[in-house]
Amino acid sequence: MPLSELEQHIRCIPDFPKPGILFRDMTPLLHDRFRDTIDAVIALFSVEEWQGIDAIVGVESRGFILAGGLSYALDKGLLVVRKPGKLPPPHHTVSYALEYGQDSLQMSSNFTPQRVLIADDVLATGGTLRATCELCERCGHTVVGTATLINLAGLNDFMWNGLRNRALFTYGD
Ligand code: 5GP
Repeated sequence: MPLSELEQHIRCIPDFPKPGILFRDMTPLLHDRFRDTIDAVIALFSVEEWQGIDAIVGVESRGFILAGGLSYALDKGLLVVRKPGKLPPPHHTVSYALEYGQDSLQMSSNFTPQRVLIADDVLATGGTLRATCELCERCGHTVVGTATLINLAGLNDFMWNGLRNRALFTYGD
């Protein structure tokens, strides 16, 4: 399925959730073309690259959707990164800056070290992905890639360990 066809199922909503923000709503894409979307993300990486990935990391909450689909389709482990207070110990915590204030993410530290791919819906400033990469490494995992449905960062791409985020759709705004 051509990416241009999938892209038609993303809704753009001006001034949501705040004035000045152009929100990309992926719920129609998930409803209308979920399987094609997962297949398109799989196609962003080569067979050899997938062979070097043991588990998919999903970031709460919309990252869970993409990570779950990839994990099922490729029969790979699923690891979750959650908002604070949801995971029992042992876990690690990473705090990161938001536009206004701070947020934290947590990950269980009782899994054997693995080569992981991090999945989320949108890359904006990269703060969430950066914190998730740090968290994975703190838990002993090796981040071998990141994937998002949308990259809003345009030319200011996100990189980790010299690896560029791969996204289905990139917008410069
Ligand atoms: P960042 O940490 O890169 O600044 O923001 C990424 C997070 O913000 C993602 O987890 C995503 O859920 C959310 N986000 C930011 N902008 C949008 C948007 O336009 N649409 C959607 N669906 N989520 C967004």
